[in-house]
Amino acid sequence: MCGIVAVIGSRDAAPLLLKGLKTLEYRGYDSAGIVVLSGDKELHRTRAVGKVENLENKINKTQTKMVGNTGIAHTRWATHGEPSNRNAHPHISSGTVSIVHNGIIENYAELKISQESIGYKFTSDTDTEVIAHEIHDKLKGDVDLLAATLEAIKSFEGAYGLAVLSSKFPGRMVAARSG
Ligand code: GLU
Repeated sequence: MCGIVAVIGSRDAAPLLLKGLKTLEYRGYDSAGIVVLSGDKELHRTRAVGKVENLENKINKTQTKMVGNTGIAHTRWATHGEPSNRNAHPHISSGTVSIVHNGIIENYAELKISQESIGYKFTSDTDTEVIAHEIHDKLKGDVDLLAATLEAIKSFEGAYGLAVLSSKFPGRMVAARSG
């Protein structure tokens, strides 16, 4: 069963996220990843197959980039798409919206077809990636992250827990769950 950790505040997020993931290791997982929203308002992502320790080792090599006070993290138990780096969460849409997801989006195949038809490119084999694109698609004009997420989740069938970050909304985080 997967684990989700999210941090928003004034402290460096990456060490707190890793600590949180370690406390969830007992639940079982096949891969892990984190996204940190840095001071330069960019999303920086690191993912690794296997233990959280592998993720930590990778992050330690790129530490200068993974600095920021806001972040989301995930230990994945694959349901759609093999355990691999490209399928590990967080997923990112268009460089600006990042999400982690626990559960299954039952209608992901039809959402994927319609998202591809309007130009979204998929970089994973998961059911999860449609969530990131759907929220990105709803973030138009003056819409804020909460409103876009509320609009997007109307399209999802299935059970989910989510944490959402956007580089356009530093200092904001949205969480949602169903089922
Ligand atoms: N269905 C998603 C996936 O395969 C999430 C799995 C989970 O809950 O860890 O990536």
